[in-house]
Order: sequence, then C-alpha cells, then structure tokens
Amino acid sequence: MAVIDDLRSAVRKALEEGRVDMVLGWRECSDPLRDAPFYARSPEDADKLVFGRGSVRNLAAYLPRLKGQKVGVVVKGCDSRSVAQLLSEGLIKRDDLVIFGLSCDGVLDRTRLGRQVDGVVLGATEDAGTVRVSTAAGECEVALDDALDERCLRCRYPNPVLADENFGEQVAPREPEGGVWADVDAFLELPLEERFRHWERELGRCLRCYACRDACPLCVCRDHCAAESRSPHWLSADSGVREKLLFQVMHCLHTAGRCTECGECQRACPVDIPILALRRALARDAEALFGHVAGTDPEGLAPLLTFKAEEETIPERD
Ligand code: SF4
Ligand code: SF4
Ligand code: SF4
Repeated sequence: MAVIDDLRSAVRKALEEGRVDMVLGWRECSDPLRDAPFYARSPEDADKLVFGRGSVRNLAAYLPRLKGQKVGVVVKGCDSRSVAQLLSEGLIKRDDLVIFGLSCDGVLDRTRLGRQVDGVVLGATEDAGTVRVSTAAGECEVALDDALDERCLRCRYPNPVLADENFGEQVAPREPEGGVWADVDAFLELPLEERFRHWERELGRCLRCYACRDACPLCVCRDHCAAESRSPHWLSADSGVREKLLFQVMHCLHTAGRCTECGECQRACPVDIPILALRRALARDAEALFGHVAGTDPEGLAPLLTFKAEEETIPERD
C-alpha cells in the first residue's frame, strides 16, 4: 500500500476512535508548488490528505494555539524537531498529541525554483531527478537538487525524531560537501564590513510586517512581543535599517538554542530576505558551545533556558 494510503487510514482510525478532535495535515490546493495546511475533522476528511514535494509548511506552528485540545499532527523529520522543542518547553502537552511521522526526501523551494524559470509556475512534475516546470512561456527542466529547499540538501533528520506512528521507508541523512554549516562558515569568513553591507542591503528591503515572527512555531509571546511593546519601548517606528536589524537580532536571540532551522520565518517573508542565515549562525554556535541541537530532545531544556556555573563544552573554562 502507498505511504499516503497508510497515513490516511491511520488518521481515519484516530478520528473514528475519538483519540483526536482533529488532525493537522496537508491537502492539495490551486498552488502547484505548495500543499495547503488542512484540519481533518471527520474520518471522511482523512481521504483529502496528501504528502509530497509541496508539503512544505511546518504544521507544528499551529500547535501552541490548539493547546487543551486533542490534536493529531502530521510531521516530516524537520517538523518533528519543532514539536520536540515545543514539548521540551512545555508549550504543548504530549498527552494531548498524536504524532503521525513521515520520512521525507525533500520539498520544493518556490523561491529557488522561481529564479530559474521565466514567469509564474503553472505546474511541476518530477521524473528521475528532474523537475519539469510549465509556465506561460512553455516548459523547461530544472535539476531536482536545484529546486529543493536548501535545508533539504543538508538534512540531518529526514526521519521524525519522535512519532506515535511512522510511515514510509527510512531515508538516509544527507552529507553535504563542507558539512551542514558550510554556508554559515563561508559567510563568516568575509570581512566584517562586507557582512555588514550585506545585511544593510538585505534588511533595507524589510517591510517590518513581522510575518517572519508570526510564522515561527517558537514565537509565542503574541501581544507581548518586544518589537511592538510601548512599555518599555524597545523599537522605534522609524523605518531605518537600524530598527530592522535590531528587530532581527531580537528575534534571533529570542530563539537562540531553540530555533530548529525550519525556515518558516524566511518562507513567510514577502520580499525574500534570506533571514534564515542569521538564525543558522546562532544554531551553529549553540551546537558548538553546548553540543545542543534544538528539537532533538523533547525532555531536555535549551541551554539558554538553563543555568550552569560551568559549561563543559566551553573551552574558555580551562
Ligand atoms: S529538511 Fe529534511 S525532513 Fe525537512 S523537508 Fe527537507 S528533507 Fe524533508
Ligand atoms: S526562527 Fe525561523 S527557522 Fe527558527 S524556528 Fe522560528 S521560523 Fe523556524
Ligand atoms: S517577513 Fe520579511 S519583510 Fe516582514 S518583517 Fe520579516 S524580514 Fe521584514
């Protein structure tokens, strides 16, 4: 039986037995590159679930708002890290959750793909490592690795880190040339001036719409966000790069050691600012300093949420 049939039947059963009030999954929509988040609320709804290259959205982002309800959630490997992180911080409860885990070998990145084709993508099919894309200008082919989300090319957790039921064959983690932090390392080797100019240029385009914050599964302050607080008033309403950079620094520090690099913040950005790089720089530091990979231990706290007089992995103590 195909993986999707197994998933549908497990979700149908959970809804029939009343183990969950709803199951968060994906369904097809008019967008050829993205499946839509979907709440399956009845056993019949289970047949609408899909899973594939368009199942991009990290559905863990919806869970904190559903606290108190019995919820099922369909997760890819990377999404399961966000669930584990939310559990470790007590932002959701394990007893209220049924996790349907799917092994995954990558999702499409609309921005990367869009840069390689002329016009709006009207459809995309895949065959043996190639994505055939149709636009108003005609058809063209793009290599699958050039169309996948970049995080999929360095994916260390293609299989869920926790799940009640697993679907699909186990997928081997990717081993990118130069390691998983090669992009961050290369950027940090640039002169400071050049790095500053990069962020000045990129963040100069920021609209301060806060879509990046709102999409983040771990941003749970809501109305108390420091970016909008008037008491104390941390950020002015000026539209200069300084305020935009300060907001990004605040978001990065707030998610330091917690960020699972899911990329929802960057995907939500309406002007394609590559802000995931900022978060990844801190995730790399959290791993190097504390040996901590966010979202891999549902029972352990993030290092910056704990206090130790001495950190074993920080060499300065010697
Ligand atoms: S990062 Fe890994 S689990 Fe997540 S979508 Fe990409 S390949 Fe799948
Ligand atoms: S900061 Fe961005 S990458 Fe990190 S958890 Fe939030 S949405 Fe995901
Ligand atoms: S989503 Fe993009 S434009 Fe909006 S605040 Fe975030 S970085 Fe700025």
